[in-house]
Amino acid sequence: MTQDPRLLGRRALLGAASATAALAVTTARAQDAEPEEPAAQPAQGARPGEYLITGAHLLTMDDKLGEIANGAVHVRDGAIVAVGADIQAPGAERIEARGAVVMPGFVDTHWHLWATLARGLGSKGGFDKAMAALAQKFQPQDNVLGVRLSMAEAVHAGITTVCNYAHNIGSPEAARAEWQAMRESGIRGRFYHGHPSDLPKDKLMDLPGLEALAKENKGDGLVSLGVAARGPDRSLAEIWRREWAAARDLDLPISTHVAYSKAVANSGAIKAMADGSFLGPDVQLIHLTQASDDDLRRVADGGSPVGLCPWTEMQVGFGLPPVARIQKQGLPVGLGVDNLALAGNADAFAMMKLTADLAAAVAGEQGTLTERQVLEWATIGGARSIGMEEQIGSLTPGKRADLIMVRMDAVNTAPASRPDITLVRAAQPANVSLVMIEGRIHKRGGRLIGHDTGKLLRDAGAAFSRLQKEAGI
Ligand SMILES: [Zn+2]
Repeated sequence: MTQDPRLLGRRALLGAASATAALAVTTARAQDAEPEEPAAQPAQGARPGEYLITGAHLLTMDDKLGEIANGAVHVRDGAIVAVGADIQAPGAERIEARGAVVMPGFVDTHWHLWATLARGLGSKGGFDKAMAALAQKFQPQDNVLGVRLSMAEAVHAGITTVCNYAHNIGSPEAARAEWQAMRESGIRGRFYHGHPSDLPKDKLMDLPGLEALAKENKGDGLVSLGVAARGPDRSLAEIWRREWAAARDLDLPISTHVAYSKAVANSGAIKAMADGSFLGPDVQLIHLTQASDDDLRRVADGGSPVGLCPWTEMQVGFGLPPVARIQKQGLPVGLGVDNLALAGNADAFAMMKLTADLAAAVAGEQGTLTERQVLEWATIGGARSIGMEEQIGSLTPGKRADLIMVRMDAVNTAPASRPDITLVRAAQPANVSLVMIEGRIHKRGGRLIGHDTGKLLRDAGAAFSRLQKEAGI
């Protein structure tokens, strides 16, 4: 008799204590003392295994399951089979997780992967000009290196879903190259097909190229397709409306930057979108730093989710991310690292801490956005904001097995009496010891698996040097 995995999961849950007990920190076990996985098999080529992760403090991010002290997760065929306190899985490989939190991987909802290749460019002395000059020199192989470097860092940081807002697509080949590189990474994500970085306001993006990619896409793989549209901010009304219509004809979700400056906010872009039924759960709005309360209400009424990128929004002077106002409107929110040429790295923990602190600073009251709430934005909330909450974002039986293990017994995380607070306040990417995506292990014992980082870093360094030379910066 075959067991229904969902039933198995429910049964295991019946015995699970919904625990809020303090995480028992075991011996002073250094994070690098965990048994090391041989780094031979490429992650994307390996079959998803069957695993039983035991002894973990589970932060499930599932409302019904809550936190489970000394819990276990059973993973098989790329899915979460069971979550609970007492689970048997004979034949599964056991992964010991004492002294660690196991939780869903982070969902990053806005990231220009190509720009990671220009990490360290900084914001001094005309960043926009330098970035525009660099962008024009990109060849498809440079786009690929940007994607690969970003994906490797995502794994390092515990980010298991990456939304690539690809706005340096100089040719159909560049679009295919980024799409293909994402699919080969074995990391879950969405490729928001964009346009050349310098596309004039009165020119359409490559809609035939988009359509061709959409038609070829069988929906098999871990990467889905979307459209990075310029919207009313960066294109003429007739242009962005046609691009919107094309995306909706192809049934593709849309992402767009909006209201990131006073001039843009005052131009009535959000009102135009609301009036023309261009908002909706399929339209993700990025930044909104200068949006008025009226505009935020329009966004809420229209049902559009929001992507906040607190680092870059402050760094480039878009203004303070309106964290508390957005929270008040109850908008679906995801967080994004945005552009690492500016932001530096993809530290999802630091991003959560900054977001929570911004909420308090702007509202003038500590605890405005609790650690638990910001953890939700970084996981299940992010998944909801991109329409993927049925597949990812929580440790729920039946969902895909995207999870991470974060050590709570390192010198920068112990003692961890409230793991949710420790995760936001103290943890760092280096504390992420295990990363699993679709049941495949991408990081174990703190080391990346299946990413040839030596070659990748050499190639990325050489490409950035060449690009700087060609761009004259
Ligand atoms: Zn952006």
